[in-house]
Amino acid sequence: MSNESITMNSNGSLNVPDNPVIPFIPGDGVGRDIWSASSPVFDAAVDSAYGGRRRIAWMEVLAGEKAYEQTGEWLPEETLAALRRYRVGIKGPLSTPVGGGIRSVNVMIRHKLDLYACIRPVRHISGVPAPVRHPENVDMVIFRENTEDVYAGLEWPSGSAEAAGLIEYIENRLGGKIRPDAAIGIKPMSPFGSKRLIRRAIKWALEHGRRSVTLVHKGNIMKFTEGAFREWGYELAREEFPETTLPEADAGEVPPGDGRIIIKDRIADAMFQQVLLRPAEYEVLAMPNLNGDYLSDALAAQVGGLGMAPGANVGDDAAVFEATHGTAPKYAGKDMINPGSVILSGALMLDHMGWSEAAEKIRAAVERTVSEGIVTYDLARQLEGARKVKCSEFGRAVIERM
Ligand code: NAP
Repeated sequence: MSNESITMNSNGSLNVPDNPVIPFIPGDGVGRDIWSASSPVFDAAVDSAYGGRRRIAWMEVLAGEKAYEQTGEWLPEETLAALRRYRVGIKGPLSTPVGGGIRSVNVMIRHKLDLYACIRPVRHISGVPAPVRHPENVDMVIFRENTEDVYAGLEWPSGSAEAAGLIEYIENRLGGKIRPDAAIGIKPMSPFGSKRLIRRAIKWALEHGRRSVTLVHKGNIMKFTEGAFREWGYELAREEFPETTLPEADAGEVPPGDGRIIIKDRIADAMFQQVLLRPAEYEVLAMPNLNGDYLSDALAAQVGGLGMAPGANVGDDAAVFEATHGTAPKYAGKDMINPGSVILSGALMLDHMGWSEAAEKIRAAVERTVSEGIVTYDLARQLEGARKVKCSEFGRAVIERM
């Protein structure tokens, strides 16, 4: 069969052929080890779910160190063009060049493709050692805004002419007081950027039968940015989802099983306590960039660590699925590292393509493998009686249990 592109329908849904071309970036450092272990898992899952009727046509695209060595660029334009054209891609971790004038290749990919929603499902996998007594109560999906907030790249060092100019403007025109030697960073947050993220979170909750969406903000202190994120969230729910959502303040009058999604909001610091103390009360979380960065790693740790945490960066035109950890350079080429994060990100990718049968096969097989105590070094050191396996062996064990 000939390979085809995934296309997009006018309503934004995907049209996925049986043999889609999917661009992939193995990644730097441990990326190669992980990709070699993970891609056979994806192929086996698709084969097992659809008996040869469907098949992914993998296409490697360059980014990171390999791209720099071969082309002199960290993120070649052809790579971005392929991710745009084929709509769905997957990547391993990429190292951030130090002092090369590039902030981060990962951040560049998100910005250039406008992948505004970072989506991270956090759920405990039975058998994975976790630091809390009831990790099974965690079943949340984080929607983190990916393009605005203090990550917009608008900052200037202490003593620079730019910082001095901004300080002068703020003091003379706005009446603010800032130390003359301060560095300056800007935190832009817009109704457009916030609402499209919250819209995606609410839609996802509706499609997946979840009962609440919680807006996580620091609006008690940063009123016009984080506080506005909260206001924009309630406004969006009221205007665009009047029949299917209601604010928590009105939820007391509604009988249980009403079917509508409750919109809640929590201040970020309190939310860190809530997810530890009452995790079962939270399902879908929507938040600005920085809150999302912190909370998604904290929640991943709560259920057993970054080695098993999947992630997706999704925009209106393209989606890139990725490991949530970095390149762990000290393990590169040693066939040791846990490939679980990329394997489970691949399952998310298959869900996104509508190939959920294959995605479920991966999740079930990973769960079976880990519950039998077959794990890589990172989990073996916390799990009594575990059978420690290499990265590649873990991938094979997952395939055997499909
Ligand atoms: P890191 O690569 O995530 O590794 C830190 C530590 O986390 C490792 O030494 C290891 O801990 C543990 N770890 C990470 N991934 C693991 C896995 N799959 N299985 C088991 N353990 C795992 O973080 P970093 O050292 O701060 O960053 C290194 C580079 O990665 C930097 O250049 C950074 O910019 C980049 N980075 C890229 C991404 C991305 O591509 N999305 C994300 C974050 C960082 P132990 O040594 O305790 O076993």
